[in-house]
Amino acid sequence: MKTLNDKSLFREQCLIAGAWRNAASGASVPVTDPATQGTLGHVPDVCGAETREAIAAADAAFAPWKAKTHAERGALLEAWHRLMLEHEQDLALILSLEQGKPLSEALSEIRYGASFVKWFAEEARRVGGTTIPSPTADRRIVILKEPVGVCAIITPWNFPNAMITRKVAPALAAGCTVVVKPSEFTPFSALALGVLAERAGISPGVINIVTGMPAEIGTELMANETVRKISFTGSTRVGSVLMRGAADSIKRLSLELGGNAPFIVFDDADIDLAIEGAIVSKFRNGGQTCVCSNRILVQSGVYDIFAARLSARVSAMKVGPGTGAPVDIGPMINEAAIDKIDRHVADALAKGAQILSKRPDMPKGKQYAVPLVLGGATTDMLLAREETFGPVAPLFRFETEAEAIAIANATPFGLAAYFYTESLKRSWRVVEALEFGMVGLNTGSVSTEVAPFGGVKQSGLGREGAQCGIEEYLEMKTFHIGGL
Ligand code: NAD
Repeated sequence: MKTLNDKSLFREQCLIAGAWRNAASGASVPVTDPATQGTLGHVPDVCGAETREAIAAADAAFAPWKAKTHAERGALLEAWHRLMLEHEQDLALILSLEQGKPLSEALSEIRYGASFVKWFAEEARRVGGTTIPSPTADRRIVILKEPVGVCAIITPWNFPNAMITRKVAPALAAGCTVVVKPSEFTPFSALALGVLAERAGISPGVINIVTGMPAEIGTELMANETVRKISFTGSTRVGSVLMRGAADSIKRLSLELGGNAPFIVFDDADIDLAIEGAIVSKFRNGGQTCVCSNRILVQSGVYDIFAARLSARVSAMKVGPGTGAPVDIGPMINEAAIDKIDRHVADALAKGAQILSKRPDMPKGKQYAVPLVLGGATTDMLLAREETFGPVAPLFRFETEAEAIAIANATPFGLAAYFYTESLKRSWRVVEALEFGMVGLNTGSVSTEVAPFGGVKQSGLGREGAQCGIEEYLEMKTFHIGGL
């Protein structure tokens, strides 16, 4: 069993106004290792009153944080970034233990998460306003960019580090302060980030972290008028609850919600590239990613060869605990995830799908899902409509480009889509026809700090990362200067 080099990164308390605290009630929530179902530790189950205190702390810290220069805030973010990389092995171990993903993937997530801190440390210096030509000679009009204020940051369990940094880094760079509510399944990665932010010299109250069950915390974050913005990554169901809850006090919202990504392989695709892309986009994090391919659409001419080659790769996958010997797939996050995968597979088989891959050696344990390639998938199956969020690759056969586009777009979600073709003409036709916020051509990966990340339709509102990511945390103030 691997152990932490710096044990103080493992915190079982929440962070409010610079103080590490238990819940006033003494209540706590256990955090489970998905590989063993053993308890890794406990975190405070914070109530509404404590959430109010965290919001008040963020509010008190807001004016001095906003008053710092962009360069000062950028330098503090740079220090946080350096500490994340210095402690990347420990952060990866905490992440892998609580979330289940293989340690190598956890390490990639830490570096990916850190990349947002670095990016927005740099972007902090480039927040600038504009001047507008005045309609009269005696006036000037200037647009100032100002931080939105106190932001609530609510994040899921599938990327416990990067989903936090992708929000907190631009918020802090813009001059906002935050109350972070990580998933109750993976709070330790968030708390470790809090320890490092404190060490980096980010002032008390700028980052507050409240842990525990979501109902009371969420109610306070939605209702409290001091919170000016909610930035949420998670399910479309909870996103819509937050949108309704934010309506009374007209909060700004960024919502990164569920997906149902199509992965389209045309007859003229480079099949080697398509197989690599399918492995990355479908099986990373055991298929528990919002941008992972949920529906693999393969044109008739290459269906059999693609199915055979993907099945061979999947049959050879290694499944096991994330922190043991290197594996391709770790345990799923909880038993509910396993139930959903089983339900989708049973429904598909009942409606005529066939399992094409061989069952790899499976470890003991309730939360491991067998990686599968399913042939003969059809649009009436559950897995065509909902995110399976597991290592199941359903193959849908299609004949024409128009048919593939129609199937791809037949979903209320619009986060990521992928397609493989060697034709330039087809590339432009298809990218323009796909109703998704991000489209990958001949690549299974669309996540990087330098490019906008986000969806259309019921996949959300707003974009994270890139130059536009900081705008989500900035207001415009139009300054009219007369009498000149
Ligand atoms: P979830 O919606 O169940 O939970 C997300 C967060 O919301 C958690 O912290 C949870 O405690 C909190 N929450 C739940 N109810 C709440 C309430 N009433 N008030 C306030 N907070 C509440 O999602 P999940 O199961 O943790 O994550 C998986 C989902 O996230 C998938 O649908 C996936 O597609 C989506 N996701 C989207 C993106 C993206 O960038 N679009 C990225 C990662 C995950």
